[in-house]
Amino acid sequence: MLAPELTPRTARRRRRKGQRDDYLACAHEQLFLMLATLRAASAEALHTLYFAEHPDGGASLRATYRWLAALEAAELLERQVIHGKRGVYRMTHRAYTSSPRVMRRATDRFRHAMPPAIAGYAWMRASIWAEPKNRGYRVGRGRDELRATRRFLIDNQKARVAMLEGPERRRAEHVLETLRSDPTLTPLFRSHCGACGSYGPLNQALTACAHCGAKPSQVASELRFECPECGRVSDGDDSEHESARDKRRKCTAALRETDHVLFDVAWREGPAGMEVTLIVVDDPGRTIPEQLNVLPLRVAGQPIVPVVLRTTDENSVFDSIAGTWIATGARHRELLRAFSEDGDRRLFPFSKTAKVIDVRADLQLRLRPSHPKKSEA
Ligand SMILES: [Zn+2]
Ligand SMILES: [Zn+2]
Repeated sequence: MLAPELTPRTARRRRRKGQRDDYLACAHEQLFLMLATLRAASAEALHTLYFAEHPDGGASLRATYRWLAALEAAELLERQVIHGKRGVYRMTHRAYTSSPRVMRRATDRFRHAMPPAIAGYAWMRASIWAEPKNRGYRVGRGRDELRATRRFLIDNQKARVAMLEGPERRRAEHVLETLRSDPTLTPLFRSHCGACGSYGPLNQALTACAHCGAKPSQVASELRFECPECGRVSDGDDSEHESARDKRRKCTAALRETDHVLFDVAWREGPAGMEVTLIVVDDPGRTIPEQLNVLPLRVAGQPIVPVVLRTTDENSVFDSIAGTWIATGARHRELLRAFSEDGDRRLFPFSKTAKVIDVRADLQLRLRPSHPKKSEA
């Protein structure tokens, strides 16, 4: 997670030069990269997800507040207030332009204040990411999350195949093949030759090195890039590339660094194998079907995946003392329906491939005020 080139010694040297703001921007590049995925997060969530692990951050929440104040003073972060007196921190223009990697990663809209619905969504999403993180999981949308999801599904399906016989076994084997060949679950990789050090073309499993003939191994690419013009996917920032739409043409659009998966994954390697939980926080900028149709839950007969759901419906209100919803909006009901036993006819029957679980049920976007003032009574 942390930039390996920034050793404590170089960090000290930079501080001595008095370039504190530049140092801050540089030291917290990983924070901005994380915010390129999350857009914004509360101080508590940033503490769990980032500062608690930063070597300069220290373990205390107070230290996190000091860092946030310094980043705000350096005009790298800006606090945006959402309802319920909560606040989220988001990147400023200065943070967005602080490094080439952040610029390649974040989109232009990141420099502006967010509409309230999006700010609330960002708060909810970062807060719910922090929960599994506190329990020893890693959370994100990167290469490791893609690999964890793939391993979870394939390992569990393999175990199931081994237990079955006859036509049931053949059906389970078919599901295993479907999961294995799913392009959205296939990491970017290159064949790497240990003997001469050369790399093969992207996503081609070579049986022998093209240069020396030795047997190569496959290495998953750490970064994923996508061209906004032609849709070409790569593991490097190829400034001039063959157009993915028309192979005779060159495309000169700058590639953007993107997430590896389109869904949020919490995972850890447990004693009994890979543990994976999907986190679905309703993004008000997209429809429910758009968000659910990219989840790795749409192969009939696949292993069941635990899912944590969170609504951002502005008409839903949770009573944290009674532990129940006192109002549920239409969008909230649509989300619940998709995972219910009866399902939503327009969508895949997710109750067959997902098990809805919950963490911190009291952690919801809109809460009923718990202590009404006497004057209001
Ligand atoms: Zn070789
Ligand atoms: Zn292109």
